[in-house]
Amino acid sequence: MEILEQMGAEGHEQLVMVSDAGSGLKAIIAIHDTTLGPACGGTRIWPYKSEQEAIRDALRLSRAMTYKAAAADLPLGGGKGVIIADSHTEKTEALVRAYGRFVDTLGGRYLTTTDVGSTGRDMEYIKQETDYVVGLPINSGGSGDTSIMTGLGVYMGMKACAKEAWGMESLTGKTVAVQGFGKVATHVVQHLMKEDAVVVVTDVFGDALDRARDMGLTVVKPDDIYGVDCDIFSPCALGGVINPKTIPQLRCKVVAGGANNQLLSDADGEELHHLGIVYGPDYIVNSGGIINAEAEIGRKYNPDRAREKTERIYETTERVIAISKIEEIPTAKAADRLAEDRLKSVRGIRRVYRPT
Ligand code: NAD
Repeated sequence: MEILEQMGAEGHEQLVMVSDAGSGLKAIIAIHDTTLGPACGGTRIWPYKSEQEAIRDALRLSRAMTYKAAAADLPLGGGKGVIIADSHTEKTEALVRAYGRFVDTLGGRYLTTTDVGSTGRDMEYIKQETDYVVGLPINSGGSGDTSIMTGLGVYMGMKACAKEAWGMESLTGKTVAVQGFGKVATHVVQHLMKEDAVVVVTDVFGDALDRARDMGLTVVKPDDIYGVDCDIFSPCALGGVINPKTIPQLRCKVVAGGANNQLLSDADGEELHHLGIVYGPDYIVNSGGIINAEAEIGRKYNPDRAREKTERIYETTERVIAISKIEEIPTAKAADRLAEDRLKSVRGIRRVYRPT
């Protein structure tokens, strides 16, 4: 499909291509939908093989941000920035600051933050060029590491799914199989341990596994995590892990984790629904990070407010499950319905004339 045709079909507003020869910057900023507020989403720094691949990723990720912010009841739209570079070898202060200048030219239509390949330090560089940046480190007046609230939100979403599966939100004694033991998973597991859940983890990095063993967790090989006899499977590493190859291996009643885009396709959401496995939709349960960053916009960051809003992921997940039951649709579809209904209702507010 042609790019403008795709943008029209998926409701995208704007796509900005930016280049700065001096710093070597090649970047794309996609603004999907600003019905609810300024487009917000991280800047991904990744060595895309082609411009087409980078554009596709920016469009896809910006749309996902619209849905995530809408379902989380935030006054934000969806956007995403991608810089075509290897963050390990090509990221420089000049490159990141050049990018910040282009973010500034959008006048607040797009607010950037961290994503794969970009860090709090990069946001500090961007802040030197524009005010349209969130997710700054705490000691720079920002909201800091997003994975803390993301972990809390995943845990709250998991509890709401447990209530549906077993009639009780308690996770005491439940076995949770966690795929990936990185930043988000570590925070999820801390909450689980406080509640005396039994945790089994896997990772592809030896250091992460050593950390898990030090915490007294059971460790399994990466390919064995799907078949662990557990109550809850929690994908906290990669996307696409719920697919026709893995679903038959699952022994759980609930799937809820931090990873983005867990379902390989819509059909996998249908299959979980058909099997009676309660799926906490990824962008609902992992929205703690964006909720945390939003708490920094236009006011001094207040961790209590961010925490209180993140805890509401429990109610949001319950609402999604209720829509799924009433409409007899998978929870992933019910989440989209919740987000689309909010967008539609706000779009429907009548314009009123205001003399200037
Ligand atoms: P991270 O890099 O700290 O952790 C990911 C972990 O997964 C790493 O330890 C990595 O070794 C492991 N991993 C990679 N491939 C694996 C495999 N095949 N099997 C097992 N383990 C594997 O990242 P993170 O910040 O914890 O994010 C985890 C997921 O959550 C990502 O999908 C991310 O997009 C998503 N997410 C993160 C946030 C946040 O606030 N950090 C917010 C929303 C969504």
